[in-house]
Amino acid sequence: GIIVTGATGHLGRHVVEQLLGKVPADQVTAVVRNPAKADDLAGRGVRLAVADYNTPGTFGELFSAGDKVLLISGNEFDKGRVQQHRVVIDAAEAAGVALFAYTSAPGTLTAALADDHRATEEALLASGLPYVLLRNGWYHENYTENLAPVLEHGAVVQAGGEGRISSAARADYAAAAVAVLTGEGHENRTYELGGDEAWGFAEYAAELSRQTGREIAYTPVSADAYAGILSGAGVPEPLPAVLAGVDASIEKGELVVPGGELSRLAGRPTTPLAEAIRAALGD
Ligand code: NDP
Repeated sequence: GIIVTGATGHLGRHVVEQLLGKVPADQVTAVVRNPAKADDLAGRGVRLAVADYNTPGTFGELFSAGDKVLLISGNEFDKGRVQQHRVVIDAAEAAGVALFAYTSAPGTLTAALADDHRATEEALLASGLPYVLLRNGWYHENYTENLAPVLEHGAVVQAGGEGRISSAARADYAAAAVAVLTGEGHENRTYELGGDEAWGFAEYAAELSRQTGREIAYTPVSADAYAGILSGAGVPEPLPAVLAGVDASIEKGELVVPGGELSRLAGRPTTPLAEAIRAALGD
């Protein structure tokens, strides 16, 4: 079958939803740590497996030979994500799964955020499993789901300078994952994935102005100032420094992903940023 971790997360929900459009529900297993969050999936015939990256034994019987697995990277920065991911890789290796796909970060990204992804990729390659590296670029939603302070202050405050970002919607990255999980010929491939169009924060502010009818400007700040602003707004450690590091990478162009691989895998153009803004403003 096809097994998806992080299935109750934002990306995982898109993946399961899109899988259900392609394969029978009983061929899909959603790995969740809280089954109450997945009642709706169970109700649609998706199999549930309860497991936690922090409890290796819970992955012991989860995989079977021939399964195709999507490991969606975790979000617990304080718990050692590489070790968490290794738990899943080890269990998959022991079972002899047919394909192991991992949601990684662009190969160009040097920010500290990428360290866990690079180490997970190494562990996966060392396992000898047939792998697919889905090196996902940035999500539109990183910005469009955090519009409240932007609208409050009439300013996009970031430390990305004039750098550009090839972001795409989570649903686009999910479509690529589904193509890999349901298609053929993806073994041992590395896909650099990003949106069809790169944009900068000034353009983002201009599009917000257009759609809201208000004046919203880009206010570039230094990485240190940005980290301080995030801390001041209550963003928990270590995220302020991590996100400031990402902006420093953006300024250097490290989140520009050329090549159009994402739209090719998805079989359609990626979602325009303006559309994600429209969806967020309409909520
Ligand atoms: P979410 O935070 O919505 O989802 C993370 C998922 O991981 C959740 O389903 C969560 O379970 C699961 N998870 C976390 N810790 C554990 C654990 N110990 N055991 C089992 N499951 C666990 O993130 P998204 O879906 O938006 O993104 C997916 C991943 O992509 C993120 O986790 C992060 O690694 C990365 N990311 C990428 C970004 C990008 O722009 N490319 C931006 C932000 C994150 P539960 O539902 O129970 O909480």
